Amino acid sequence: MMMMASSTATANAQTDHFNYNDERFADLQMLRYRVEGFDELTLRQKTLVYYLSEAALCGRDILWDQNGRYNLRIRRMLEAVYTDYRGNRNSDDFKAFTTYLKRVWFSNGIHHHYGSEKFQPGFSQEFLRTALHSIDPTLLPLNNTTDAKAAVDALCDELFPVIFDPEVMPKRTNQADGEDLVKTSAANYYGPDVTQAEAESFYLQMKEADKDPAHPIMFGMNSRLVKQDGKLMEKVWRSGGLYGSAIDRIIYWLEKAKTVAENDRQAAVIDKLIEFYRTGDLHTFDDYTILWVNDTEGDVDFTNGFTESYGDPLGMKASWEGLANFKDRAATERTEKLSANAQWFEDNSPVDKRFKKENCKGITAKVIVAAMLGGDLYPSTAIGINLPNSNWVRAEHGSKSVTIGNLTDAYNKAAHGSGFQEEFVIDDATRELINKYGDACDDLHTDLHECLGHGSGKLLPGVDADSLKAYGSAIEEARADLFGLYYVADPKLTELGLTPNAEAYKSQYYTYMMNGLMTQLVRIEPGNNIEEAHMRNRAMIAHWVLEQAQQIARRKAQSQYRGHTDAEHPQAVFPLPAEELKPAVELVKRDGKTYVQINNYEALRALFGQLLAEVQRVKSTGDFEGARQLIERYGVKVDNELHQEVLARYRALNLAPYKGFINPVYVVTRDERGEITNITLRYDEPYDQQMLRYSRDYHTLPYVNE
Ligand code: ZN
Repeated sequence: MMMMASSTATANAQTDHFNYNDERFADLQMLRYRVEGFDELTLRQKTLVYYLSEAALCGRDILWDQNGRYNLRIRRMLEAVYTDYRGNRNSDDFKAFTTYLKRVWFSNGIHHHYGSEKFQPGFSQEFLRTALHSIDPTLLPLNNTTDAKAAVDALCDELFPVIFDPEVMPKRTNQADGEDLVKTSAANYYGPDVTQAEAESFYLQMKEADKDPAHPIMFGMNSRLVKQDGKLMEKVWRSGGLYGSAIDRIIYWLEKAKTVAENDRQAAVIDKLIEFYRTGDLHTFDDYTILWVNDTEGDVDFTNGFTESYGDPLGMKASWEGLANFKDRAATERTEKLSANAQWFEDNSPVDKRFKKENCKGITAKVIVAAMLGGDLYPSTAIGINLPNSNWVRAEHGSKSVTIGNLTDAYNKAAHGSGFQEEFVIDDATRELINKYGDACDDLHTDLHECLGHGSGKLLPGVDADSLKAYGSAIEEARADLFGLYYVADPKLTELGLTPNAEAYKSQYYTYMMNGLMTQLVRIEPGNNIEEAHMRNRAMIAHWVLEQAQQIARRKAQSQYRGHTDAEHPQAVFPLPAEELKPAVELVKRDGKTYVQINNYEALRALFGQLLAEVQRVKSTGDFEGARQLIERYGVKVDNELHQEVLARYRALNLAPYKGFINPVYVVTRDERGEITNITLRYDEPYDQQMLRYSRDYHTLPYVNE
């Protein structure tokens, strides 16, 4: 699981010479992150980080292909025009083309990375066809090279509907209730003729045939499900199988990494991952994750492989991602305090006893420094990660939780002075609260979410971990968020020295509600519903709490006039003071603008606790209908009028709703014998140059459709 940055990163004044903000286009702002502490690593550690960085970049093409079967060919075609077009590069068509390509790069495909809707090009088909005919045909992914002109036309005829026709592959991952989610999703996890019903029954049969149902493998995680001669079969992603050429390159760098591992345990982890990449065996994958969870001694660590299933409409198949990182020692002390008290948090949560873990074990938590982002973590990335995703491995062996300190820091620094809070926060007092405590409590909420939230609670015996199906991800994120929200206000945190006082948490409550009710809507196109799991979770929590608060206030208002009397004054009516009749939280209008107003923070905490108990019940009992109700009622639909207002106010600020990172460049110095003598980092590679370099140096898959 991963934690995404919300759009409301707060910021404190702190400027240094590093340029956190880079170029801006469409709805995107490119940022840079600094690999703090890299220079202090030993040469051996630097070398290890470098090898793992290379391994993190080698799976890029896998993700492109997973995101859509035409993506790699479209990328090649667009890049050839970008580098070699000799026509008017100042024309409106070429400018729109450039923006389109930059968006495609950012999304690792032709669909929006977050909303998953297909981009509509701002240039004409004629422009692109003419441009393609004008460049060297050997640069293009053509099927036939004897008649180049005919081959270019054939390429256009094949790919133009995919690029230009809004009806063709309109969504990468469709989550619309009631539709065939497999057939209507452009993601390349299922053959084009496979239906949702077929896929579901295929994996249901597999699960029913499982001889060890207490330790189920991650069925379907590393394969494409296709139909061959009318029969369903899996094409497994492994060396010698589908994506084999990319996987072999990853293995090459992992083999090198193994030679400079920090200890034997780490070398064994890398070895097991290589074995998994070679065999594609999901039992080996479980063995690997168990070794990985237990490898906590070294400073350097990594994620590399098929990991998160957000991109599969059925939530089974995992997209490829890579991350090289090392431990931020000082910040890790913060999360170690939480982990050390994991059982206390579990015991004292408002959740029903039946759903609590008797033994909260193995929750390791650390703050890491990202050293390279790859695959589904690049350029848009997570700020926290909790792995592995297998429920039984988590229950029996624990999980590893990380928050990525240097990325959070870069978000915060880049957001400084944006005017965002001035526009959306209700008053000076609340703004001051956020300025004072916002960053610290954001970090703390992320820590609680990752270190404790995801690791808390248990399923009742016999409950299938996938019972919540399409709602599983959003419910799981809600569970972790609510755990964090409930506890960020707890005096225990002040006692542990993690919050400065009993008031700091209010900054988190305010920004969370503001984000869930209003400001995250800046990421949604007018007329669209909320699709992405983390956004659905935030909307669900905020709207549920808002509705409950209103109902409670209404009940209070009614009951005070219906016999609110006492023995001495049997006929009297005592109206409650107006302050007490206010809901804990409400949306109010001031000068025609909507704001979140929080009237009672303690009551808000009680509501978060109540919802946490309910969400845990839904998860623990596998209550699909309960999950559907919560998400569909509170997490999906958008109030059109409010949406328009928020978009207009946000537009006026001229900010980009989405952010992503440009990676540093590793500069390796070697002696005459080829031995590495030093590694330094550069932070000056332009976005387009980085993308073109990656497409050239990490091009691992063929352009023909497999
Ligand atoms: Zn999460």
